[in-house]
Amino acid sequence: MISGVDSFEALHPSLGYLSKEQIEQVRLAFSLAKQAHEGQTRVSGEPYITHPIEVTKILCSYYMDHISIIAGLMHDTIEDTYVTKEMIVKDFGNEVGALVDGLSKLKKAEFKNRQAAQGENFRKMLLAMAKDIRVIIIKLADRLHNMRTLTVLSKERRLRIATETLDIFAPIARRLGMHSVSLELESLAFKAIYPKRFAVIDRALNKVEQQHHKIMDKILNRIRNGLKNEKIKVISLESRKKNIYSIYRKMKRKGVTFAQLTDVYAARIVIDGEKDCYRVLGLIHRLYLPVSEKFKDYIAVPKPNGYQSLHTVLLGPSGVPIEIQIRTKSMDDTASHGIASHWVYKSDDLDDQEHKWLSSLIDIQSFTQNPEEFIENVKMDLFNDELYIFTPAGEIIELPSNATAMDFAYAVHTEIGNHCVAAKVDRQLAPLSMVLSNGQTVEIITSKHAQPSAVWLDVVVTAKAKGCINNFLKGQHKTESILLGRQLLHHAMKSLDHDLDQVDEERINAYLKLKRYTKLSELLASIGMGVLSANNEAKGLLNVAVEGQDRVVTDEASHDEDILSISGGEGRMVKYASCCLPIPGDPVMGVITSHQGLVVHIESCSRLLTLRKREGRCIHVHWSDHVKGSFKTSLVLKVKDRQGVIADVSGILAEENINIVDLKVSFLDASYVELIMDLEVTGRKELASVIRHLRKLSHLVKITRNQEKFWKS
Ligand code: MN
Repeated sequence: MISGVDSFEALHPSLGYLSKEQIEQVRLAFSLAKQAHEGQTRVSGEPYITHPIEVTKILCSYYMDHISIIAGLMHDTIEDTYVTKEMIVKDFGNEVGALVDGLSKLKKAEFKNRQAAQGENFRKMLLAMAKDIRVIIIKLADRLHNMRTLTVLSKERRLRIATETLDIFAPIARRLGMHSVSLELESLAFKAIYPKRFAVIDRALNKVEQQHHKIMDKILNRIRNGLKNEKIKVISLESRKKNIYSIYRKMKRKGVTFAQLTDVYAARIVIDGEKDCYRVLGLIHRLYLPVSEKFKDYIAVPKPNGYQSLHTVLLGPSGVPIEIQIRTKSMDDTASHGIASHWVYKSDDLDDQEHKWLSSLIDIQSFTQNPEEFIENVKMDLFNDELYIFTPAGEIIELPSNATAMDFAYAVHTEIGNHCVAAKVDRQLAPLSMVLSNGQTVEIITSKHAQPSAVWLDVVVTAKAKGCINNFLKGQHKTESILLGRQLLHHAMKSLDHDLDQVDEERINAYLKLKRYTKLSELLASIGMGVLSANNEAKGLLNVAVEGQDRVVTDEASHDEDILSISGGEGRMVKYASCCLPIPGDPVMGVITSHQGLVVHIESCSRLLTLRKREGRCIHVHWSDHVKGSFKTSLVLKVKDRQGVIADVSGILAEENINIVDLKVSFLDASYVELIMDLEVTGRKELASVIRHLRKLSHLVKITRNQEKFWKS
């Protein structure tokens, strides 16, 4: 048998953990892949098949199942050769077919630029990975081998691949608990992007390790002897290597010196049984004094990504701290391979946390407009340091380090987020804007009537919460704009002596086609948001050519007497100007502002003069006969200074059932006070009655309506 780097024998020794039948299938996949890649070479000149072989060997080192192994061998065939998904499904079944398809990029021609392609490909991969997590494990093995062989590529490609690795793949690996992969990816990428910085830290680190070597050996020997005396079987006991990239990152982020980061001894003890972990802990605490607050029991309380270990810090010779990790072999595998280790330990129930994270990615993707935005949001989620917060039921929710109680609400459930009103943090009532810290228990208080507002966007930091709030606002905004748009168009049609409801469907469709809208509601929304003018659209709609129909000729001049009526119940698409605070009964004028809907001003408002000059922006409005709700207005009272005047005023208003929204007092001089009150009234009638009652105040000098707020504040 000929053996070489491109033969099955290069892979065979790694497959020892699979059954005979499985190995035969793998052999079949190998021949197919080899045949498909025949004649192709890597940039290094090696036969292409060496790449899938190496990728598959990495997968074997995690003891991945034969399905993943076969998919690993085939992973580049759909993208780069004549092999199709159907062929793979036929030979190896649906699972392998779906895996390889999930790993294949979309055709390059479909994208306008590299960012769009990267985003869309990434999105495709994530969707595939949400269905089958093995997609990302194979992708990471693929990336790892490509990074290991990066040096042969051109500088430009090297930088691009390394940057993408650092931005996306290393964080995903870390997020999935695959620490050995993420560390290696980071190291290789860092070396490719900053070769000089890498060399400097590498040299310094070697120096430190040489200095530590002797003492470290002493410490390890002392521990080894202790374990021997206790008859504890040790699988491995070694000093922990420091990672160059994490040193660099910490130096940069935390502003600490190299010496501060490296002036510790670190070791890891891997043993057989879980119970022995605690025995080992007891033993080393007798050998060296523990630094009490540094002990962490991640065996009893595992990290959300499944990480388990005991951590302790001891006081070493001459006071240098010794960091020790104690864990079993299976914990150690989980620590370095994360979810990839699930296949060895046959725990079918993939950790819930991973699934939650994946489905949160799917959430993010459904909220984002384009792949670039999506990728930004995912990065944001990946790069934040983690915070572990408990629900009242003891479930752990993972959040980025600066997350607020409102982020927590959205992390629990979109509906809880959308209806949250307050939080209880460790049983204390707290505002939703409170920034959480590790280990807190948070309970969210909801109300049926609560709903997101634009202000909430400033309170949250997670992509999920932002997406949910934006989504809600967009939906709401839209309904309101459609309603207003319909009213405006209706009104414009009427002034042209036509009725919107009488226009036949053919005409509407012809006009929508002309304007490139798919639905009438979209056109109405644009009118409601002030993007399109209702008058122009009304004329356009009536004038559009429709087969078999005469053009409806309209007069240029429209009637003015027909005016839009305002009832107070229009929602946020109708706003009441904060400069003049109009109330029902006031003569008013409407201004269409782009994207904000209609703003109602009092006709005499001085701001209107400026706004009026912009043609087509103002429309006539009047109050409907059935105005609903209360409206804000403002009064200015000049009063002779007297104690208790505020109490008198509020007494009168309370008797009239009037709400005071805001009250400002300023002393005009030694003897006069000015009160500026914002009130809520139903209209002019009620305001008149309020003023009448206030006039009874004996010390009142003057009372006026405050209609120039804009210029004062
Ligand atoms: Mn590949």
